[in-house]
Amino acid sequence: MALRGTNQEKARPYNRRIVLEYVRNHGPATRGDIAKRVGLTVQTVSTIVRELEEQGYLLSSKEAPKGRGLPPTMLHLNPDGGYAIGISVTPLGVDAALMNLAGDMLGSAARACVRPSPSQAFALIEELCAEMRALRPDGRILGVGFAMPGPFDVQAISFVGPTTLDGWSGVPVRARLEEVTKLPAFIAADTVAAAIGVRLYGEGAAMPQFYYLYFGVGLGGTMMQDGAPVRGAWGNAGEIGHIPIVPGGLPCPCGNRGCLERYLSLDSFSNRPAGQSQGEWVAEVAPIFHSAICTIENLFDPQTIVLGGLAPDELITALVATTSTLPTSISSRYDRTTPRVTASVGHQSLLRGAAAMAVSGVLSPRQEPALTPDRPRQRDPFSNGMAA
Ligand SMILES: [Zn+2]
Repeated sequence: MALRGTNQEKARPYNRRIVLEYVRNHGPATRGDIAKRVGLTVQTVSTIVRELEEQGYLLSSKEAPKGRGLPPTMLHLNPDGGYAIGISVTPLGVDAALMNLAGDMLGSAARACVRPSPSQAFALIEELCAEMRALRPDGRILGVGFAMPGPFDVQAISFVGPTTLDGWSGVPVRARLEEVTKLPAFIAADTVAAAIGVRLYGEGAAMPQFYYLYFGVGLGGTMMQDGAPVRGAWGNAGEIGHIPIVPGGLPCPCGNRGCLERYLSLDSFSNRPAGQSQGEWVAEVAPIFHSAICTIENLFDPQTIVLGGLAPDELITALVATTSTLPTSISSRYDRTTPRVTASVGHQSLLRGAAAMAVSGVLSPRQEPALTPDRPRQRDPFSNGMAA
């Protein structure tokens, strides 16, 4: 489904984004295709396309002639028309990557730092952004997308623990990011950014309804509904790490006992008994993992659950291998065409998703939703002094 433009002269900045969004999602396309699909006149589309070509966002090519008549001009997104930097802060350190408009990763870098404070993190982000910019010194950097662990601003469980970041409550993250990077900044929870990455570039590409289970230092997740993250009232929907799953179980820094992420997370994995192999650990947590799968399925009815995150690929793969048999849930269907649980490995979904938030935020008519109190401002990357 393409977004619709509006044939009013004052709507030109909006129409430029609509046209670019169409080519980004459905290109290559002719001017006529675009006009028909977004509801603008061919004349309006032609004017916009000329501007976008001049600005380097679009490239055109001629098809080989078939039969009589001039071959149509096909419009493509210019992969090097712009770049975005994806940044993630985790309890293990800070990572950054540079991505082009086609979603290709052009380079990445990481700095280890255990549970970085805001000032440590922003100093590292400044360094890493300089490194990323140096990969394309003459390139147009559109913005930065930033991901960090949730849940956000939950005072009742304002816990400090090994899976969370301390000292970040109340920090004006977007303002600090824009200050150190001098770029428009877009922020989201790590689970949301990674789910966007999986949706655009990974296993979720053909699946508009999936739940992304994020196996990080803690455990979280995001439901993607019609290709967009379900956010809830405060942006924390789907954060399942603190579901109480073992009555009277292990104490959790949130104040409860038996929370899911006490059993299923990198924190739990790295604190397993000395000498316990990965295989033994996976076998031990499999029943709890399977209960979590059934809970997610019964809540969200996803096409599949995609397991990914910061965990090593072989751990993700080993956990998914245990799901060949699962307890029944509403997802136990005879007409399934996808497995109930799928592994997502090797896509760097977190950083690509973070960078994609910046591309969408700057270029597209719909912005990826950011945290409620810290919404990004609208900016027009096309404004070049011309009347809009
Ligand atoms: Zn908890």
